[in-house]
Amino acid sequence: MSEYADLLVHGGDVLTVDEAGTFVRSGAVVVRDGEIREVGPAEELRSRYEAAETLDATGCLVLPGLVNTHTHLAMTLLRGRADDVTLQGFLERVLRWEAELLSPKNIAAGVRAAIAESVRAGVTSALDMYWFHEAAERVAREAGWRLHTGPTFMDEPDPADGIAYEDRMAWARRDLADRATARPGTRPVLFAHSTYTLSPDQLTDIAALAREFGALLHIHAAENTTEVATVEVRHGRRPVELLDSLGLLGPDLLIAHAVDLTGPEIAALARTGTSVAHCPVSNLKLGCGIAPVPRLLSAGVTVGLGTDGAVSSNTLDVLGAVRQAALVHKAAGDPTAVGAEQAVRMATLEGARALGLGDHLGSLEPGKRADLIVLDLNAPHVRPVHNPWSTLAYAAHSADVRDTVVDGRILMRDRVLTTLDEAAALADLEALA
Ligand SMILES: [Zn+2]
Repeated sequence: MSEYADLLVHGGDVLTVDEAGTFVRSGAVVVRDGEIREVGPAEELRSRYEAAETLDATGCLVLPGLVNTHTHLAMTLLRGRADDVTLQGFLERVLRWEAELLSPKNIAAGVRAAIAESVRAGVTSALDMYWFHEAAERVAREAGWRLHTGPTFMDEPDPADGIAYEDRMAWARRDLADRATARPGTRPVLFAHSTYTLSPDQLTDIAALAREFGALLHIHAAENTTEVATVEVRHGRRPVELLDSLGLLGPDLLIAHAVDLTGPEIAALARTGTSVAHCPVSNLKLGCGIAPVPRLLSAGVTVGLGTDGAVSSNTLDVLGAVRQAALVHKAAGDPTAVGAEQAVRMATLEGARALGLGDHLGSLEPGKRADLIVLDLNAPHVRPVHNPWSTLAYAAHSADVRDTVVDGRILMRDRVLTTLDEAAALADLEALA
């Protein structure tokens, strides 16, 4: 007797990334209504299920889609325009260009290209902090891609979206109220840019609004020593100390970067259940330093991986960030710092947990959303596979991703995008660049 499935991904070795690290050789994933129904041996599941659509993953690795926990997608518009500068020099330039360039139409073009790049790289969702988030959401919906976004707060005289600071609270409240029926696997988000672009009172108000709606609050903090010194001079406290003193640390806060941290700050993040989005490529490129990830992990802090925007890291390649995360912390002399499995988990289950979505995303387990990727192992640089974590962290490239599935829908099959007109997206981007 056959049971019905919408999609059967079968024949590949399945790295579930569940708590136990279950690895099913020649396995299958059964998908129905956008949700994972079962994971198990391919032979058994093929005989039990009648599937409307199938992906033959023989000779491939099947794993959860990668989660980008910190990015600014539409910054693809500015890729390559601010290289080899300091964070502060970078911010000055970017803010000037944004004022000239940004509109809902241009944001849509930048995001469309960013989603095409992400789907190709096996990234199935991203936390995207940027202006005109409604335009980004529209594009993501058309592409069938999972976007975590919401209103951004940054107190500056000429915000790119033209919404004055005093009007932003009411605008954000309307936005959150409209999200009462969120798509499964997403949650409302509010973005507070940083402790140097918002006052303590503003931060407190934004956090209160986030809590009222059960939204995730996301902020850049402690990205480099200059930022920390600036905030310390202005407010008498370092960024994470300031957030702690305002009562903003907690399980609903995700901090991007967290490079310049003291021991007591790491302890405060652990004590409060605050998560961190580690962006190793951006931090290296901007000379910000190396986040104390081994210490964060041993303190019990949840750490996800982010690429940051395509101006500061130049790619949205999360697998590239996995490799950096697995390598850069060893530079201090300890090759056991951030192992391959830890780095892959940061890009999957831990990333989902950092967003507060660990029950819905980040591993291939029944009841979770069917966000998964198929990585082709039919190439010399990924053979043999003695250990799939090692293959992913140290050998595979994002271009090895063959198929990308979000919510059970195939967005890339055999390296061809099925929901996005890639040529048109690139032509639009070029026209603006
Ligand atoms: Zn950022």
